Amino acid sequence: MKDKLLYEGKAKQVFTVADNPNLLVLSYKNDATAFNGEKKAEFQGKGRFNNLISAKVFEYLQQKGINSHFKEAINETEQLVEKTTIIPLEVVIRNVAAGSIVRRTGITEKTIFNPPLVELFYKKDELGDPLINDDHVLLLTDATEADLTKIKKMALQVNEQLQAFFKEINLQLVDFKLEFGRNASSEIVLSDEVSPDTCRLWDIGTGEKMDKDVFREDLGDLVTVYDNILSRLEAKQ
Ligand code: C5P
Repeated sequence: MKDKLLYEGKAKQVFTVADNPNLLVLSYKNDATAFNGEKKAEFQGKGRFNNLISAKVFEYLQQKGINSHFKEAINETEQLVEKTTIIPLEVVIRNVAAGSIVRRTGITEKTIFNPPLVELFYKKDELGDPLINDDHVLLLTDATEADLTKIKKMALQVNEQLQAFFKEINLQLVDFKLEFGRNASSEIVLSDEVSPDTCRLWDIGTGEKMDKDVFREDLGDLVTVYDNILSRLEAKQ
């Protein structure tokens, strides 16, 4: 099914699909990076967990009416998606203060944001993905004001759905990052991945961090934690 390597990112490879220019295969790697690529490691099995967890998240979101690029997981580490042109934005939704917002603003960690906070970052590795505002989005990307309104609305809907989704497996959705792209019909759809690499998830009972912060902060064994999340999701059904 997969044909040529189109692009290689930090966590995934992207392949074209033979005979269908509107589809891509995402192949999840075992590599982990943090702090804009400054910290790197490889974890056997991580690609499989992120592929299977992200597939479950996208299936759930599709059932809830969120349009996305996702088609299906085709094996343990790969999934078939609709080809989109990614809008170079990282849309971060925060329910609880953690990570960069604490460093940037001095807000106390664990402060609750109600309503949730929406932040936009310009997706550009060379610049370290800087925080930008709405005006910058209009200047730096081809997104219009209406597109941006739609993107923020979708991101907040995803947040509502995912808070409930993760609560069912006893995890608090602290924050997460989404990416959006345009498909062949120019429609804006949710793209990329939603996994413990791109979300902060805290165990509701113990407060334990169950996401990539385990790697960022050297808190324990990342693969055991990701395995635990997939097991909880599998037990849920
Ligand atoms: O680092 P920061 O606190 O801004 O991250 C907010 C959320 O976005 C976290 O869940 C983090 O895992 C995610 N994120 C990401 N990719 C990035 C930056 C942040 O998935 N490049």
